Order: sequence, then C-alpha cells, then structure tokens
Amino acid sequence: MKKYIILIILLNTAFLFPAKHPKNIIIMIGDGMGVAQVSTSVLANPNSAFRLFKNTGFSITYSANKLITESAAGATALATGFKTKNRSISVDTNDKPLTTLFEVAKKKNMKSGVVVLCSVVDATPAAFTAHSPDRKNKYDIAHQILTSDCDVVIGGGQKYFRVDTSKDAFDADAFKSSLVKSGYSFYPTFDKLTHATGKKYFALLENEDLPKATERKYSLKDLVKKAIESLNESKTGFVLMIEGSQIDFAGHENNSQYMIDEVKDFAEAVGFVYDFASKDKETLVVVTADHETGGTGITKGNTDGSNMELSFLLKGHTASMVPVFSFGPESDKFTGIQQNSDIGKKLMNCVKGK
Ligand SMILES: [Zn+2]
Repeated sequence: MKKYIILIILLNTAFLFPAKHPKNIIIMIGDGMGVAQVSTSVLANPNSAFRLFKNTGFSITYSANKLITESAAGATALATGFKTKNRSISVDTNDKPLTTLFEVAKKKNMKSGVVVLCSVVDATPAAFTAHSPDRKNKYDIAHQILTSDCDVVIGGGQKYFRVDTSKDAFDADAFKSSLVKSGYSFYPTFDKLTHATGKKYFALLENEDLPKATERKYSLKDLVKKAIESLNESKTGFVLMIEGSQIDFAGHENNSQYMIDEVKDFAEAVGFVYDFASKDKETLVVVTADHETGGTGITKGNTDGSNMELSFLLKGHTASMVPVFSFGPESDKFTGIQQNSDIGKKLMNCVKGK
C-alpha cells in the first residue's frame, strides 16, 4: 500500500512539474579553456561569472583517433553528439555528414546563431554550420555557412566571402548585394552591427580574426548582447554558440597576459548570458571547452589573484579534462564526468525534445 501511495505522489508531482525542456539553448565554448584558464578568472575576481554555477562537471575530450584532440573534432562532438577524427568538421570517421544541433533546430523552427572572435569559417563555428572532411577547406565552409540558414553570424573572416574570387580584396558592397536574395543583411563594423535591425545577418567585422580583447573597442559580451537581442525575437526559441576563440591562441603562444585577458573577456560574456537565462527561465546554458591548450598552470601570484603568472608545458593541446558549467532547464544532466560527445547528445535531446 505504502508503495502505491508513494507512486501516486510521484505521478502527481510529475504532472504538476513536468520535465521542462529549454526553449533556448546557449552553448559557450572557451577554446582551449582548461581548469587553470578558468582559475585565472575565479582567483582574481570574487564575482567571476564561473562562480555562479551550481551544476558543474568535466568533459573528456579525446577524439575518435587521437588522445589529443583539436577544435574541429572537439566542436563536432559538441555540435553532433559524435566523436570524429581530428580535423573533421561534423562528418563521421568515414567522412559522411553528421546531423548538427543547428540542423535539428531548423527543423523545429528555431533560430540559430554563432558569435566568435576568430574567422567564422574556423573549426569551432564551422562544426555547427558546415560539414567537411578537413577544417582547412575554408572557402567551401564559407559557402556552406551562406546556405546553412543560420540566422546570426558574428565574427571575422571577410576574406573567405569574396564574391569575385579572381580579386584579392573583399568587396563589401558586392557581398551585401549577393545576400539580398536570401534575405540577409551585412554589417562590416561593430558600429553597423549595434544599429542593426535585420533579423538575419552576417556581421563580419575583420578580414580574418577579430583583435585581441585588449585591442578591441567592444567586448565579446557586446557581440553576444546583440545576437541574443536578435535571436530572442523567435517565439520558437533559438540555439546560439558563442566561442571565446582566442584563449586557445594565447595558449599556443604561451602568453600569460593574453590568456588572462581573453578568459576575462569570455567570463564577462558568461555573466551576461547567465543573467539573461536567470531572467528568461527557459534557457539552458552550457559553458565548456573543446580541449585544453598549453598544459597551463598558475605558478605565481598573490592570494587575491593579483600578479598571477602562468607556466606552460607545451605550445599545443593536452588531453586534460575540461570543466563544464550548466544552468537552466535540464542543466542537471550536464554534471559529473562525461564524454564530450555525451554533452553533444544531451544537447541534441534538449533540441529534439522541444
Ligand atoms: Zn588550438
């Protein structure tokens, strides 16, 4: 009898509080952001956005063929739910296209967007918007992004979008008119993006990568704010991928200050997204990395996080687990130690379950 009463109570609570799928999904990837990188923000700032998350975990990042992964295979695992070979962009180990989160989102009438600090044809954003056996096929990836129906594309990489490929220089006017048919606007500067009214647009702000955080007139947070403003007009929700792209660049350069500054810029964007999601209550936020870069450690500094210095084991990536932070509906599913591909599968279920 007791069993039945408990069952009835459980059924009733399930009815009153059905498992709620998120309306919106925001995936934030700190490229190359391991535990040490996150620690630079947490130790130096009592209000670091990373401290806000109650649900935390780790991601195992190895690829289908290498213990040490890279951004293409790392992002593919998150974008599709499958591990693949290093350098592959959302194709399986036989080079067959894998279904991406963005493709499923489109079938569900959701909007999609990417905001990155590198070229939009680089490996991480490409895994969400294209399919290719090799990340170096940047012109082909650019072509695929143009036809992917991704609503908001913010980052660098103008040179890959030349309409007349016989010319060396990017022609903004020619690109703008080439987009009219498909209903996109083009914004070549941050100022133009700020005043943007288009619902679908490419904001390509540089020929290649965007400037470093300390040399930019705008923060990642500023770009994210604009993207969310545009995407949140959707009544059916959106999927947005945001990348702190240059944490990885700093790791490859073994440059302490560059890394600290990029993590700070990323953390501010994380704070903005957390704030948006806590007000919105229908947005799942997952913050993680594709892999760790630099074999980074904090080896000098004060207890308040001032004067920190980092040391590096190498100029490449490592197989160290990377942290996972999650917030919002279904965020409790992203805790503990998990495979990067399982994070992708869980994200996929959140989009499919809508
Ligand atoms: Zn890298």
